[in-house]
Order: sequence, then structure tokens, then C-alpha cells
Amino acid sequence: MKVLKFGGTSVGSVKYINNVISILKSNAIDKSVVVVSAIGGITDKLLHAGKLAIDKDENYKDVFLNIKDIHTQLVKELIPVENEAIILAIENKLEKLNSLLEGLYLLNELTPKISDKLVSFGELISSYVITEVLKARDLDAVEKNSQELIITNSNHGNAEVIQEETKENIKKYFKSLNNKVTILPGFVAKSNSGEETTLGRGGSDYTAALIAATLKVEVLEIWTDVSGMYTANPKLVKQATPIDQLSFQEAMELSHFGAKVLYPPTVQPVLDANIPILIKNTMQPNDKVTKIFDVSEVSIKNPVRGITHINDIALLTLQGSGMVGIPGFSKRLFETLAQERINVIFITQASSEHTICFGIDYKDADTAQTVIDKTFEYEIALKKIEPILVETELSIIALIGDNMKNYQGISGRMFSTLGKNNINVRAIAQGASERNISAVINESDVKKAINALHERFFEVQTKQLNVFVVGVGNVGERLVDQIEQQHNFLKQKLKIDVRIVGMANSRKMVFNETGIDLEDWPSSFDFAEQSNLERFFNRVLELNLRNSIFVDITADEKVSEWYAPYLRHSISVVACNKIACSGPYSTYKNLHDLAINFNTSFLYETNVGAGLPVINTLNNLVASGDKVTSIEAVLSGSLNFVFNHFSDHTNFHDTVKRAQFEGYTEPDPRIDLSGIDVARKILILARENGGEMEIDDIENKSFLTKANLESYSLDDFYDSLKEDETHFQEMYASAKANNAQLKYVAEFKNGKAMVGLREIPEGHPFYNLEGKDNIVMFYTERYPEQPLIVKGAGAGADVTASGLFADIIKIGNK
Ligand code: ADP
Ligand code: ASP
Ligand code: MG
Repeated sequence: MKVLKFGGTSVGSVKYINNVISILKSNAIDKSVVVVSAIGGITDKLLHAGKLAIDKDENYKDVFLNIKDIHTQLVKELIPVENEAIILAIENKLEKLNSLLEGLYLLNELTPKISDKLVSFGELISSYVITEVLKARDLDAVEKNSQELIITNSNHGNAEVIQEETKENIKKYFKSLNNKVTILPGFVAKSNSGEETTLGRGGSDYTAALIAATLKVEVLEIWTDVSGMYTANPKLVKQATPIDQLSFQEAMELSHFGAKVLYPPTVQPVLDANIPILIKNTMQPNDKVTKIFDVSEVSIKNPVRGITHINDIALLTLQGSGMVGIPGFSKRLFETLAQERINVIFITQASSEHTICFGIDYKDADTAQTVIDKTFEYEIALKKIEPILVETELSIIALIGDNMKNYQGISGRMFSTLGKNNINVRAIAQGASERNISAVINESDVKKAINALHERFFEVQTKQLNVFVVGVGNVGERLVDQIEQQHNFLKQKLKIDVRIVGMANSRKMVFNETGIDLEDWPSSFDFAEQSNLERFFNRVLELNLRNSIFVDITADEKVSEWYAPYLRHSISVVACNKIACSGPYSTYKNLHDLAINFNTSFLYETNVGAGLPVINTLNNLVASGDKVTSIEAVLSGSLNFVFNHFSDHTNFHDTVKRAQFEGYTEPDPRIDLSGIDVARKILILARENGGEMEIDDIENKSFLTKANLESYSLDDFYDSLKEDETHFQEMYASAKANNAQLKYVAEFKNGKAMVGLREIPEGHPFYNLEGKDNIVMFYTERYPEQPLIVKGAGAGADVTASGLFADIIKIGNK
């Protein structure tokens, strides 16, 4: 014999009821007991109708008609002919529901007792419908009302079963039963005094377990809408997988801490009788299953078996100096709660005994507050303790596993993962059995928390990076292409899953929580909303994804002003925009401090030399204890291009025009020619080397004339270049006479930095620098004569994008 329980979704549609029929027909075991839930959603609809009725809202009638329709429609589709008697029977049963609702409409009150009567209709009707369908499909089925078997106390809504009497009834009934399939409604019961009671929301599982344990069947099968008990709720964690095997204790702990797939009291009766539970999927009967059985037989690989959460938690804190050293406070506190039948889910007490903090269902919070303040009225009046503090909108998250006690560092990893993701932990508890480590966090952080923990404990290998890009121009497009192209490689080789979740240009912005389709990303902008930096930031926060990275590919000061808010929310920042790092020192310092304090990253390798590892090399030198004595560098691809093409055969004006036309300069070439761009770069290097410098501390010997520098407009500037051609030709002639090349050089030495045009003699490493190349020479204590040189293309969309990409991956590897 075996007991099979089918949940709400499993009996909620024609398709799934057909699956139920085939499951029962293919069942090799002689006799089966089938426990059914109400059809999916009906319990909630019944409660909703009741609430509308007592609120004098006539809409309750529509809800009633909807309930009726759902049931009759199922019968009509499943039993297309000769169904009149069955439909009539349903209508008769529902007429009683209608009268009850009419009564509520007049009464204005829904007591727990009436509520039980109301919700019981769900299971009573579903069991009737399923029995009739099975009979119509030639199964030898009989219906039995479990209210005649399961006897409880009168604690309506969550009644406790009177074990002996219930077991007697079950044994007696099944003793003489010969039908192959017996159908019973789950969840419903009766009290000794004959009132209808229920076993608590989700309680059909428990009905099935009681029957299974009493009849000592071979197995209890819980058929539901997922393929077993998962490593985390599969509705919230996409990567969750079914757990093959669990001990009874683990399953109990998982269900107590929120794995709704099994109603918590279900395990106890079958554990006592040592009957295995199988959790199976009615939608995919041949998919994986979870087997819950005796611990000694379970083979364990990962000590953490599952991650769970419970929402709607209120955290109550009792504190005050009057509690220290005085016995009996906790006894009085918990007795008070017990008297009100308030279930305590979570407790911690500071070792100073100064505070006791506990978590309960938020629905009980008001009652708890009133009764506790009453109990401690005297102490509160004497100011020995404070009135109880109540905080809501919280959740409990928990790691569960029998074997966690044998491993070190699990809680360390748990809390560092939460910390890295900016999840504020309000309270912590670890059971003495160490089967459970739990924490109270804000409800709004739950999804992020359990996904991050799942990644940490179950997807050891892959780390998901959630990237938000602002500025999808030339460089941005290349970055997106590179991420798309490397996606699979990174996932397989580095175990990093990079997704772009948000993108914005100056006009529009788009988001996709599951990752923007990078093959066809421009089309996602078709219906995009208008771009706005503040709204972009708020969306990033709302999405609240783990390992979030904000990437700035603009040259916009306004964008750089958002780095601090991002870092404050532990969101890493990657920038090719130099404004923040070359602005006031205090800004630069503050951003670095924020990154440290909020355990996150602020990276900007592309600020100097595009994709060349200049900043990284300098950081490594400094970190390894080397002392940089000087830095000499050619850091402007634009100026390099200009001076490589300027000669006595060309003129300066045309050369600059060409450089601009070919995209080697900023849109306004004055930014390059004035040397300001190079000054910003050497400033950043000086700061990376520890110097607290400002841009004004950098000596800028300009090669431009006064007229060039004072030009009002770009046209004006170009005109002045034409007029001053002789000045430029003189510079060229002097260099030529000295057999030198003109290079725009940045230098940092003895705490001072300068930028300017220099005549570079033959043989110098800068002499043959071509095209848009950059070169940086580090002279250090370890490299005193032959400098450490970084050289290569220092501008261009592709190399800049790859520099940004490298920063993103660096964060992924952290
Ligand atoms: P039924 O109506 O069949 O009793 P429930 O809705 O009570 O089904 O339970 C199944 C649901 O439990 C799943 O759809 C899933 O959303 C939720 N759930 C929560 N945690 C877990 C978990 N760890 N494993 C599987 N399901 C879980
Ligand atoms: N129908 C009840 C509920 O929705 C009991 C159950 O489904 O187990 O809670
Ligand atoms: Mg359930």
C-alpha cells in the first residue's frame, strides 16, 4: 500500500488531472490512498470571498460564481457525457457555500471557526470531483471524508491532531476496505465537539503523512508542481536543483525554515514510522525526485543541503539593564508568548544578557507587543527595561545541513557573501545542532541574498556578474561585442557569467533582469524609456542583483557624480571616464575609501593608455614594496599622431584637421593640444603612486601660442593655427637640426609632475614611437637604469573596450 498526495496545481487543470489518472493507473501497488488538496487557488478564493462578504462587498458573488465555474468546467471537460448528476451534486454542495457567504454578508464577522468551515469547501469538493473522474475512467475508486477520521482540538486555523483517536479511526476504516483507490480530502478535520477544523495552510501533506504512518505503508509520495525539494526555492533561484536525498531531520529543518514544498509537521509521523517520502512532479512524472529517509543511508557530499527563507517576519527586541543577571526574564517572556499561542521562529540573546531578540510571524506582532509590555509593565515603569521594540518587513534566511557542524568556515562564507552584496544582517542564530545557520535580513534583499548564497554554496564554479553600462557609443559597442563573443569561454574557463542587465546612451535606457540579448541589443532600444541618470541608479537598486557593476563609458562629469552612490551600495564602478580620478584629490580619495569601506571595487585602468596595463603595473610595483623614482611617458595618441605627421612638407593646421577627421582627437582637439588630457593622466599616475596632488600642481608648458590658447571657438582656433604656422615650423626646424623628434612628454619626478613638448634625441625609447602608440617608463629602486616599460596602442575603441573588460573580469575574479 502507498499514500499519494496531490497538491493544488496537480489537481488544478484537465491536463494535470489526466496525469494524476495515468500515475494512479500505472501504479503497481495493490491499494493506494490518495489525498488531494483543493484545486489550485481555491483556498485563497474562498477566503477572499469571505472577506468581501463581511466587508459588505457584493463582489463576493462573482468570486463564488468563479469558484463554481472552475469546478463544473473541469467536470464537463473530464467527463464530457452523462455528467448531469455530478454537476448537480457539485451545485448542491456549493449551495451550502453560498448560504454561508450570505450569512457572512449579514453578520460582518469571520471568526476562525467560520473561516475553517469556509475553506473546508475547497478540499471537500475537489475530493468529490477527483473521485468521480477516476470512477468515470474505470478506476475502482471510493471517496472518504477525512473529517470522519482526523480528530483535532478546537484551535481553528491550525488545529492539533488528537493522535490516538485519529489513528484508531484510520485503522478501523481501512481494515475492511477493498477498493483499489481511496480518495480523501487533505487539510480538513473535525474537533471532538464536531466542529470543522483545518490543519494549517499547506496541511494536506500532513493529512497524507498521518494516514501513511498509521497504515505503515511502504512509501508516502508527495506529488506537486516541482521535481522535488530543491537547493533553494526554484521560483526565486533559477540555478536551484532538486536534492536527490535528504535525512528526515534535514527535510524537517528545510520545511520549518520555509521550503514550502513540504508542510513542516509532515515529517514527524513518517519519521517515527520510518516511512520514506518521495517528492515528485505531477507535471513531469518521470523527472527527478527527492527521497527523504533515514539519515544513516544518505550519502552526503556538500554539507550545505539547502537554502531557505521565510518572509513576513517581525523582529522583537527586549532590552534593558534590569535584565542582566536576573534569572527568569526569558521564562516570563516566552511563557507570555506561549499563552497567546505565538510561535517563536528565531531567538538570539547577547551574552551580556542585556537583550533578547526573537523573530515571529508579523501577523502576531501586535498581540506580542501588547502582551509583553503588559507582562513587564512594572519593570518598564521603573525603566529597568525598555518597551519592546518591534521591527517588520524582515525575512529569515537559513543554510541547512546535518553535516555542517563537521566543517569549518561555513558561517564565515555565508556572512562574507552577504556583506559583499551589501545585505544588512539584523540578527544571527545558529542552532546548537548546527543543522541550521540563520539570519534576519530585510525582506527586499531576500532574492539577492539567496541567489548569492546559492552561487556561493552550490554553483561553486560560476559567478554571475551583472553589468550596467552607461554610454554605448563607439567604445561601448565594442565592449558589448567583446562580452558577447567571450561569454561562453569565460563561463567555461573562468567560471564567470557576465550579463549586461542595463544599458543607456544619452537618449534612452533599457533593462532586462535576465540579461539583455547581446546578439541583437540595438533592437532592445526600440521601445526603450528615456534616459535619466537618477532613474538608472534607482533601477539598479530596485533590481538588487548580486555582483552588480556600473560601467561608465562617457566623458561626462554628471555620470561621474554617481560613482559614490553606487559604491555606497556595494556596487562596483568601472570607468574609462577620467573626470573623477583627475578632479579634486578629495573626490579621488573619497571614492577609494568608499570602495574599501563597502567591500567593493573602483577600477579605471583605461584612464591612462586605454587598454595598456599602466595603472595595474604601477599598483603592483607599489604593492610589492618597490619605490618609483620617476615616470616618463608619452600618453597622448592624438599628439603623437599630430607630431608624427607634421613636417616641413605639411602644415600644422592641416595636420590637426586630419587628426580630428580621422578620429584621433577629442571632438574638440584643443583638449588634446592644450595638454590638459595628458596632465590629467600623469596626475592620476602620481596619485596612484601615493601623491596627494591637484591638477594645478602640474606644470604645463604649452607649445601653443597665446592666440591659440585664447581662441573663443574651434573655428577661431583653427584660424589662429594657420596664422601661427611659422611658430610651428620653427619648432619643427629646431628638432630637425638637432636630429630629434617632437614628442609630447609627461614626467613625474621627486613629487613633481610636468607635461610639455620635447625634442627627443635619436636612440631614446620615445624616438621611434609610431601612430597612436603610448609608452610609459617606470624608473624604480628595482629598475634603476633600465626602466620597466609599458608600450602599445594607447587609443582606439577596441583596446579601450578590452581594458574595460579586463577591469570587469578582475572584479569577477575577486
Ligand atoms: P502543492 O500545492 O503541490 O502542495 P506548494 O505550493 O505547497 O505545492 O509547494 C510547492 C512550491 O514550493 C513550489 O512551487 C515552490 O515554489 C515552493 N518551494 C519553496 N521552497 C522550495 C524548495 N526548496 N524546493 C522546492 N520547492 C520549493
Ligand atoms: N488547500 C490548502 C491550502 O491552500 C491546503 C493544502 O493545499 O495543502 O493551504
Ligand atoms: Mg503544499
